[in-house]
Amino acid sequence: MTVSDKTLARLKQAAGPRGYLDDPEAIAPYCTPFRDGWVGETPLVLRPDTTEMVAALVRICAETGTPIVPQGGNTGMTGGGLPHPGGDEVILSTGRLNRIRGIDPLNDTITAEAGVVLADIRSAAEGVDRLFPLLLGAQGSCQIGGNLSTNAGGINVVRYGNVRSMVLGLEVVTGDGEVWDGLRALRKDNAGYDLKHIFIGAEGTLGIITAAVLRLVARPRERQTALVEVADPQAAVELLARLRGAMGDVVSAFELMHRNCFTLATRTLGHADPMPGQRPWRVLLDLTGQQPPGALREPLEEVLADALEAGLVSDAIVAASGAQADALWRIREDQAEVQRQAGKGIKHDISVPVSLVPDFIARADAAMERAYPGHVVCTFGHLGDGNIHYNPIEPPGWEQARWVAETGPINRIVHDIVADLGGSITAEHGVGRLRLAELVHYKSAVEIDLMRRLKRAFDPANILNPGKVLPAQGG
Ligand SMILES: Cc1cc2nc3c(=O)[nH]c(=O)nc-3n(C[C@H](O)[C@H](O)[C@H](O)COP(=O)(O)OP(=O)(O)OC[C@H]3O[C@@H](n4cnc5c(N)ncnc54)[C@H](O)[C@@H]3O)c2cc1C
Repeated sequence: MTVSDKTLARLKQAAGPRGYLDDPEAIAPYCTPFRDGWVGETPLVLRPDTTEMVAALVRICAETGTPIVPQGGNTGMTGGGLPHPGGDEVILSTGRLNRIRGIDPLNDTITAEAGVVLADIRSAAEGVDRLFPLLLGAQGSCQIGGNLSTNAGGINVVRYGNVRSMVLGLEVVTGDGEVWDGLRALRKDNAGYDLKHIFIGAEGTLGIITAAVLRLVARPRERQTALVEVADPQAAVELLARLRGAMGDVVSAFELMHRNCFTLATRTLGHADPMPGQRPWRVLLDLTGQQPPGALREPLEEVLADALEAGLVSDAIVAASGAQADALWRIREDQAEVQRQAGKGIKHDISVPVSLVPDFIARADAAMERAYPGHVVCTFGHLGDGNIHYNPIEPPGWEQARWVAETGPINRIVHDIVADLGGSITAEHGVGRLRLAELVHYKSAVEIDLMRRLKRAFDPANILNPGKVLPAQGG
C-alpha cells in the first residue's frame, strides 16, 4: 500500500511550500544509508520547522494511518531512520528544527531543538566556557534528536555516561499528535514517572523528540593523549584500573584497538601507523581535567612506567602537542570509513562487564577462527564502557556475497558468547532494522511483552517508525 494522493496533498498543505520534498532526486539522500545496503523508499520527506507543525503533521498521519519515519542526520548504523521499501511511509526530517532556544551557564544547561547538529551544540557550550560531553565520529552530521533517540554513546562515556545521563528535559510529539512539554531544567524532579527516559533510546517508535534541555559540564583545561601498546586485552583492563586508582576520575576516553585497525587505516585512507610494534593490541586514551595545562603528563608517565615494569605495557606514545593528539584520534574516528572501504565487516556492537571483555574477545576470536580460518579480525571499541565493535572481515579470497550469507551463523557465534557473559547485543547503535531478529531471539518473552505494551500505550495507531525495534506485527 502506498500513501494515497489525498493524504500526500494534505501533508504538503500542512507543511507549506518549504516544509516538504517530493522530487525523487532531492529525496534520495534521505533514503540512502551511511553504510550497508538497505533500500529505503518514500514519496515524501516532511521538513517542519516548528513543534506545532510536527504535531499537525503527526495528527494527519494518525488520522490516515500513515507511518512516519523520524530522521535526524541519517548517520545511524542500524537502518532505524530509513523507510522500508515500498513507499508507504513518509520521512519526517528534523533538519529545520535547528534553533538553540537558550543557554544558562549558571544552571549549566542548554536548550536545543532536535535538529541542531551535535558539533553546533558543543560549539555553543564552548562559547560560554562549558563542555557538552557527547562526542562521536559523526558529530558534524548527527543531530541531537537522533543522538537522544539512539541513546548515543561515543568516546567519553567512560567519564560522563551516555547521552541519557546528559538530559534534564524533553519536548516530544506523541503518536496522536499531542505535544508533551517536559522541557524542565531540573536536576531533581520526582513528580511522577520520569517520562523522558521512555523516549530516550526508543529510536522514534514512541514519540518524536522536538527539543531537549541538556546538561553542561566544566570545560577541561588540561588534556593528555596517549597511544599505548598493551600485552593483551586483560592488560588493557588492568591499565584502566591503575590509571583510575592513581589519578582518580580523569580518564575521559579509553579505547581498545586491534593493530589491524591501524594497518587498514594505512591501506585505505593513507594514515601513517604511529607505532612500529607488531603486538596486536593498543589502547588510545585521553585524560582531561581542570588542572593547569601539562599537569597530568607526569602522573600519566609514572603509571605507564609502572605498567611497563609489570609487563602490561610494551610501548607508549604520549602526544607532545594537540596536533599529535588529534592525529592519533583521527585514526580512531575514521574507523567507520576505514572498515567500510576495507571489506565487508559483519558488524557487532556488543557490551559485557568491563572485566569480562578479555574473556569475550578470547572466546569470540577462537570460535570465529575455528569456523572461518583466516578471516580478518577488526576489533575495536570503548573498552572503558565494556563496549566492543566486533567486526570480522571476510577471509582473503572469499566472494563478498558468500561472506554476507554467513551473517546469521556469525551473529549466533558472537551473540551466544555475549549472552553467556550477561551482555547486550547492542551497546550504543540500537536495534533499528539491523538487529530486530537478534533482539527477539535474546530478550525474554516478558521483556518483549512489556515493550509491546509500552508501544501500544504511546503509539496506539502504530504509525511511529513501525517495524523498528519491535517486529511490525502486533506493534
Ligand atoms: C562515523 C560515525 C561514527 C559513529 N560513532 C558512534 C559512536 O561512537 N557512538 C554511537 O552511539 N553512535 C555512533 N555512530 C552512530 C550514529 O552517529 C548515532 O547513532 C547518532 O546518534 C545518530 O544520530 P542521527 O541524527 O544521525 O540519527 P538518525 O540516523 O537520523 O536516526 C537514528 C534513529 O533515531 C530516530 N530519530 C532521529 N531523530 C529523531 C527524533 N527527533 N525523534 C524521534 N526519533 C528520532 C530515527 O528514526 C532512527 O531510528 C556513528 C556514526 C558514524 C557515521
